[in-house]
Amino acid sequence: MSPPSLIDVHPNLAGTAPVALSYELFPPRSPQAAESLWTTIGELEATDPDYVSVTYGASGSNRDTAVELINRLLLETTLRPLAHLTCVGNSPEELAEIIGELLDHGVRGILALRGDLPKDGGVPASGSLRYAQDLIELIRRVEQRRSALLCAGKVAVGVAAYPTRHPESPSEGHDIEVLLAKQRSGADFAITQVFFHTEQYADLVSRARRAGVTIPIIPGVMPLTSLRRLKRLGELTGVEPAPELIERLAAADSDAERRRIGVRATVDLANAALHAGAPGIHLYTFNEHACALDVLDKLALPRPARPISRLNAIARRQELAS
Ligand code: FAD
Repeated sequence: MSPPSLIDVHPNLAGTAPVALSYELFPPRSPQAAESLWTTIGELEATDPDYVSVTYGASGSNRDTAVELINRLLLETTLRPLAHLTCVGNSPEELAEIIGELLDHGVRGILALRGDLPKDGGVPASGSLRYAQDLIELIRRVEQRRSALLCAGKVAVGVAAYPTRHPESPSEGHDIEVLLAKQRSGADFAITQVFFHTEQYADLVSRARRAGVTIPIIPGVMPLTSLRRLKRLGELTGVEPAPELIERLAAADSDAERRRIGVRATVDLANAALHAGAPGIHLYTFNEHACALDVLDKLALPRPARPISRLNAIARRQELAS
């Protein structure tokens, strides 16, 4: 008799896979902003996300506040930080130093980005890394030098993916080639830029899969409840806001109505992405928890049951913080 095949002895993995949940935060710009951010962090921690990402100013100007926020998250919360890092604004030597510092503090996830180019049209300093792909390779080199220290968990490297053409890219096809190149250089997962149309996530994933991209692509969704913010976002990212959303927000006659519209639009985007097989949902929060929690309430994500000890740790930390 032949031994049972792996498939026969393997536990049944059919059924709904858990969906990852994550939030994006940015380092506070003032003591008041820090205070309200920590209220938000407490509220978000109670939802037990898989990680929270912390943005990094492409000018390198908020390096200290970003590292400080990441350290506090590691020391004072149960949250796992995903540190954004950009090529723009730092020399390769400085970047290697920051990566080493992050790893030494216990960070195990880095989102490798090029960063937005200076608005004044200035070119990055000579010798600086040109593309996110170069930063992935640098992270892997720093990691390699610490491989014996990382036996209990290697570094997960994430990258940006674009449901609509990156403003500097010649085509969506080129964006997919870049994503594939980032995967080849060692990216483990991608998080998408914001998008406003329900079919755009599925389109991106199917184009990426056809080209050979196999890494998870996590949709980034942003509850937009203010016209001003929506327009500003369009300017910053080059992503054209959906005209219907602009019209509906403009016609709303109260903040409550705008919040309802913004949350509903985000839930629709997230549900369409989940329907297309998204392995997680990444919520851009603007350091505010109310809309993110509204979205989460309406999504009812299949989430893994957490050990009671972890939930107790969260509750204890919240008690201490209050
Ligand atoms: P890249 O992948 O390097 O692409 C940049 C441009 O170069 C693209 O047009 C691409 O087509 C082209 N390109 C890339 N590689 C090649 C190649 N080998 N040959 C030819 N062309 C190439 N910005 C911040 O400053 N701080 C943040 O914290 C931050 N967080 C973000 C988080 C997410 C999830 C996303 C989606 C974006 C974030 N950004 C952030 C914005 C990001 O930095 C910008 O979108 C930036 O313009 C491009 O970054 P990238 O990592 O996609 O760059």
